[in-house]
Amino acid sequence: MPASQQTVLRDIVLVGGGHSHVGVLKHFGMRPLPGVRLTVICTDTHTPYSGMLPGYIAGHYSYDDVHIDLPRLAAFAGARFYRDEVVGIDRQQRQVRCRHRPPLTYDRLSINIGSSPAVDRVAGAAEHAIPVKPIRRFNERWLALLERVRQHPGPMTIAVVGAGAGGVELTLAMHYRLRRELQWLGNDPDALAFHLFSAEREILPTHNAHVRRSFERVLAARGVVVHCSAEVSSVSRGQLRTRSGATLAADEMIWVTQAGGAAWLRDTGLALDGSGFIEVGDTLQTVSDPLIFAAGDCATMIGMPLEKAGVFAVRQGRPLADNLRRSVSDLPLRVYRPQRRWLALVSTGDRYAVASRGALHAEGRWVWRWKDWIDRRFMARFRDQ
Ligand SMILES: Cc1cc2nc3c(=O)[nH]c(=O)nc-3n(C[C@H](O)[C@H](O)[C@H](O)COP(=O)(O)OP(=O)(O)OC[C@H]3O[C@@H](n4cnc5c(N)ncnc54)[C@H](O)[C@@H]3O)c2cc1C
Repeated sequence: MPASQQTVLRDIVLVGGGHSHVGVLKHFGMRPLPGVRLTVICTDTHTPYSGMLPGYIAGHYSYDDVHIDLPRLAAFAGARFYRDEVVGIDRQQRQVRCRHRPPLTYDRLSINIGSSPAVDRVAGAAEHAIPVKPIRRFNERWLALLERVRQHPGPMTIAVVGAGAGGVELTLAMHYRLRRELQWLGNDPDALAFHLFSAEREILPTHNAHVRRSFERVLAARGVVVHCSAEVSSVSRGQLRTRSGATLAADEMIWVTQAGGAAWLRDTGLALDGSGFIEVGDTLQTVSDPLIFAAGDCATMIGMPLEKAGVFAVRQGRPLADNLRRSVSDLPLRVYRPQRRWLALVSTGDRYAVASRGALHAEGRWVWRWKDWIDRRFMARFRDQ
């Protein structure tokens, strides 16, 4: 019997269409649970796959290559899809509050809404800088920047604030793409200047020294000016200032710093960590409410701090799906143990990448091809239903 014709006994509501929830939808599509209705609410109809974003910016992939079609995936899972923004949870009434729709009742709730660079911690950043997330808004600004560079070639300075893997990769991807655009148009690519700011003493602080050296070499070869121990303390129109008092005039300021949790989570009464992320146990159930689960960037596993990386959000999809099924069937939950070391494949913009895992390091065009193969295979799981 099609899911839509079955009696609904339990409602599972998925808030956000992040990397974990696409996995949940896929698992429920493959193995439906009779009597259980899934609903997914997301601000976007197409959710980006983080691993391929820098490749999209660099021009190696199209928009469709790097986005998962959520309504289509929801249809495969027999789930309802609502495009809306969740703005709160009424835990007494077991209801999700949306910006536009009436409240939605849940028996189990799962939250996978990601994180955003904490622009509100630096004066002026919210008004004058472009946060890399949400990706939809960043993409709009990126397309506008591309157009501006095409229409008005001339000197331009781009500052990227945050030199973790996301910031470094994004800098190199934008650098590659914008220079190519100028070259195609017969304009001078050297009119572009890139500056990368790190509050830490070095770039890529969570990676090994070999990986750091590789990227220092690549950034230097591309002429990107790297400012270390240079915490940006304020931003005004066209200018940023570091804590030491140094200033830089910049046409665009892109914010890729440490992430924070969504502001509305603070009013849910769920326990949050110091950065505003939801505290969950080793079953991905929140520590505050057995009916609510959370995964991906917006969750913090107690006693197991994980890097905010899509790879963990993806891996949590399977155990989250299993535990939602078990919880709704009143079965004991299963423990999920994340891997202690993980492989990061970080690209340099030009179809070349560096592999980083613990103390290991490898690099080359073959690493990029390997990454490309892994990423395309991941996306195919959601396209070929
Ligand atoms: C430039 C860049 C490159 C990166 N590259 C990599 C990489 O190569 N490998 C890697 O592992 N990680 C990478 N990361 C990190 C990665 O992007 C995040 O860790 C990952 O996206 C987190 O996934 P998620 O599922 O938690 O959330 P997200 O992927 O952010 O998904 C959250 C979803 O929820 C929706 N949403 C948000 N708020 C609401 C709301 N209130 N109501 C409804 N819907 C909502 C959003 O629209 C979005 O669709 C990169 C990050 C950046 C910035």
